[in-house]
Amino acid sequence: MSDTIFHKIMRKEIPSEIIFEDDKVIAIKDINKMAPEHYLVIPKKDMPSLREAKEEDKELLGHMMLVVSKLARDNGFSDSGYRVVINVGEDGGQEVMQLHIHVLGKRDMSWPPG
Ligand code: 5GP
Repeated sequence: MSDTIFHKIMRKEIPSEIIFEDDKVIAIKDINKMAPEHYLVIPKKDMPSLREAKEEDKELLGHMMLVVSKLARDNGFSDSGYRVVINVGEDGGQEVMQLHIHVLGKRDMSWPPG
């Protein structure tokens, strides 16, 4: 079983600002925010990155996307738009080896990203 900082947060061993939780996912505020609103949507199932996602995870991945959409709506930046990012592996800039979706809102984003 993996034991990243996000697993410790999920087990409530490390404090975090939890903004949503159900039986499948937890969503927290990023400690080092890159936008006025910056959340992380994390599956409770062990999954180091998107690379390990399997056919059987289809429903979980879809659920995570719907949580992203709900968080944007509930926090008032769905209409203005937002950015959703999944960093994967070394070249993707992933630092914590448990899959997570970044949700960045209330900032006018540029493209391409760095
Ligand atoms: P990654 O680079 O892996 O895609 O993103 C990891 C994210 O986790 C970073 O944006 C970082 O700020 C965030 N993070 C790392 N440690 C903690 C922590 O202890 N609490 C919270 N809330 N976020 C964290």
